[in-house]
Amino acid sequence: MAGLVDTDVIISGAGAAGLTLAVELARRQVSFLLVDKAAGPFTGSRGKGIQPRTQEVFEDLGLLDRVVASGGEYPVQRFYTAEGPVDRPAVEMPEPTAAEPYQIPLLVPQFLTERRLRERLSELGHAPRYGHGLVGFGQDGDGVSVRIATPDGDRLVRARYLVGADGGSSFVRKSIGIEFAGETLGVRAIVADVRVDGVGPEVWHRWGQGTEAQVSLCALAGTDMFQLQGPVRFDVEVDLSADGLTTLVRERTGRHDITVRSVSWASAFSMTPGSPTPTGRAACS
Ligand SMILES: Cc1cc2nc3c(=O)[nH]c(=O)nc-3n(C[C@H](O)[C@H](O)[C@H](O)COP(=O)(O)OP(=O)(O)OC[C@H]3O[C@@H](n4cnc5c(N)ncnc54)[C@H](O)[C@@H]3O)c2cc1C
Repeated sequence: MAGLVDTDVIISGAGAAGLTLAVELARRQVSFLLVDKAAGPFTGSRGKGIQPRTQEVFEDLGLLDRVVASGGEYPVQRFYTAEGPVDRPAVEMPEPTAAEPYQIPLLVPQFLTERRLRERLSELGHAPRYGHGLVGFGQDGDGVSVRIATPDGDRLVRARYLVGADGGSSFVRKSIGIEFAGETLGVRAIVADVRVDGVGPEVWHRWGQGTEAQVSLCALAGTDMFQLQGPVRFDVEVDLSADGLTTLVRERTGRHDITVRSVSWASAFSMTPGSPTPTGRAACS
């Protein structure tokens, strides 16, 4: 098993959950192997709201300051109505207390949060192994034997524990027959990280209501991009290119001065009965 050694814990998946666990194990000198089947880190904004409890966890991990410095606070929402623009706070937070000290409505794109987690992990002497996908495992009384597909072929690794941090479609979860419980929303939506001309970053711009009219643009603090969001019908082909998103934004806002210049990452998500199923494409530029 060249390059891979037996270890206490194998973490499958180096997203937010896997990286957090890796930092915790590294702090306690527990040996682990952190593998991810992707070729490299994920580049999308996805989850951008850092909740108060998460901020407490980040403080404990020693990275709250740099996560705060990576993003910003949620901007005010500006609703463009027939009567004119109406501003409302995006998040109303109570005053900090000793029990809940962090009440900042913090906005950080997920790829920046994960970058800070990787930096902290690196300080502790570890890094994720990308291009390493979990493809099989078997459990016995002493531990687990794990098969990992690597660029150099399959490897077999022995560990005391295997942790499935491999996302919503988790291979580990499905392999051991655990259902993905939860509610489905019955909606389909676009989320995209875009560079835009025609609007500024000072407010979260929101237009329209309903599946075919609503669209919003929220500046992604710490970047020069906006997160574009909008519901879409299940039965339409969605064009996630810059031209396609420009057309969608102009149709929904009536603003022909708004242009999507480039798309860093985009996805159209269908929440169908049963389990959430991502559709569309992810793109990097
Ligand atoms: C399009 C989209 C928009 C979202 N928007 C929001 C939002 O606005 N707000 C919010 O709070 N949350 C949002 N989320 C959810 C949020 O991104 C997730 O809750 C979060 O990423 C979960 O983190 P995780 O580490 O559990 O899983 P993930 O981030 O999914 O990471 C799992 C990792 O496991 C790896 N992996 C998968 N299978 C294997 C395998 N067999 N072997 C090795 N590695 C494997 C994957 O490559 C991936 O890197 C969004 C998610 C998506 C997809």
